[in-house]
Amino acid sequence: MERFSSSGLGPQTTNGAYKASGWVLGIDLGTTNTAAVALARGSSEPVSILHGRDQLVMPSVVSLKNPNLPLVGWLAKDMLLTDPTTTLIGWKRFIGRTERSEYVQRYRHRFPFQIRADAHGALGASVGNQVFSFEHIAALVLDQVRLQATAALSEDVRDTVISVPAHFSAAQRYAVLEAGRRARLNVLRLVNEPTAAALAFGIGQRLDAKLLVFDLGGGTFDATLLELVDNIFDVRVTRGEGFLGGADFDRAIMNRCLSVIQRKHHADLSNEPVVAQRILNAAEVAKIRLSDHEQARIHVPTVGTDRKGNWFDLDYTLSRKELEALTAPLIERAIGIVEDMIQGRHVDHILAVGGQSRMPLVLKRIAETLGKAPLTHLNPDTCVAYGAALVGQGEGRFDGAVLLDVLSVPIGILFPGGQTDFVFDAGCNLPARTRIPVPRPLTTRDLAIGVWQGSSLTSSERHVLGVLEIGSHLFEGGGPCSLELSLTEDLRVSANFINENRCESIPLAQAPYRS
Ligand code: AMP
Repeated sequence: MERFSSSGLGPQTTNGAYKASGWVLGIDLGTTNTAAVALARGSSEPVSILHGRDQLVMPSVVSLKNPNLPLVGWLAKDMLLTDPTTTLIGWKRFIGRTERSEYVQRYRHRFPFQIRADAHGALGASVGNQVFSFEHIAALVLDQVRLQATAALSEDVRDTVISVPAHFSAAQRYAVLEAGRRARLNVLRLVNEPTAAALAFGIGQRLDAKLLVFDLGGGTFDATLLELVDNIFDVRVTRGEGFLGGADFDRAIMNRCLSVIQRKHHADLSNEPVVAQRILNAAEVAKIRLSDHEQARIHVPTVGTDRKGNWFDLDYTLSRKELEALTAPLIERAIGIVEDMIQGRHVDHILAVGGQSRMPLVLKRIAETLGKAPLTHLNPDTCVAYGAALVGQGEGRFDGAVLLDVLSVPIGILFPGGQTDFVFDAGCNLPARTRIPVPRPLTTRDLAIGVWQGSSLTSSERHVLGVLEIGSHLFEGGGPCSLELSLTEDLRVSANFINENRCESIPLAQAPYRS
């Protein structure tokens, strides 16, 4: 028999046992929306799990207005209008980051809810007197997916592959794994979103082609070039921008509306979070409509009061041309990243994924830049989840397909005394191995070498992955000493200490691995 915990997180069988079901889930845990696809073992027929409000996605939104009864998905998104400070959107941007990071310092103020570290240092949303870590928030979303899958398939479905952005660091990946664990999912592995999309496109076709995955979602932009040879899916290069997506398009429209209000009613509504959210919602609806229509009306009733204290509505008709003019700089940023990454190289196919890539001007600019139109036969909402499910289905028996990846955020080491350097550079093929000399310590104490990941040697974005403790006895005897470092596809670091007469494995201690 199954019961559900009061936190809404995870079923517990009375005897704790879980019987593997005949299904595997692929979950695209997006910044804005989450998609989930189930595959029966041995079948390539995808079943979309999420259907709320006629869409194949569920908003990645959690309402903690009542923290004992969290709302997830569409119901939570509805709460955004009235309770922006307890409705958590965009939390994926902060998962696995530390409070001191530059990224968090720079962007936390863009969100209506308060962002703080909890007692264990995990970053989360502060609601009432409590901090709810973003791992917990992610777990609530994943748990909702699991519940819906279980309802849709009438089975307790847990085997899952979750997709993550290619630029996610090891710490961000561990946080997603931890969220999956808390949601009582059996996360078989993580897969990079562009790799999942490529797989959905190319599985079983034995192509020989260069594929560009252009992923413009609600919050982030990623461009990835893959080489598909036979059944090998080889990521050659990947680039992206953490704050470029549909939400920026909505904000551009909102700013236009605010200046229209300013001009017409002499009212400044820019510092009113509830009003801003109502306008943002209407802006998004209009933006989506303008992908199929030439005009869209933005009507938000009783949005503010004028100088005489009379209420007025926002009633503005936006044309596709005006939307294009407002958002062209955003589109050009994405196109610039692609141009910089491709550097004139030939591309055979372009796969546009992420909801915002449905905008006609985005598709047009891709076609103009690369000389061919993006493929549109895959559903941009669900193809990443489908690819993730394919990976899950193939774990251990993967139809001969091989997924090769590159490291997107470099990894470095830190010696006592502060000497630090990169050991695995961005763009290196995974898995990777390298060997570095280790100077003999001047004292007889053990040597502790820190391992971190981050984009710069000095940046506060550096995240400690763990510490390699080299026992002083290993330095006995003469000859040079070195450390052989290995990095797996899922960014786990291991090391061997080598000198002229021994080779000893050194575990990475204090790493946030929670398998
Ligand atoms: P994703 O994170 O991939 O789910 O993308 C969500 C973003 O895509 C949101 O900003 C949506 O407003 C945007 N979006 C969804 N459908 C469309 C559409 N038809 N035209 C333009 N933008 C869209």
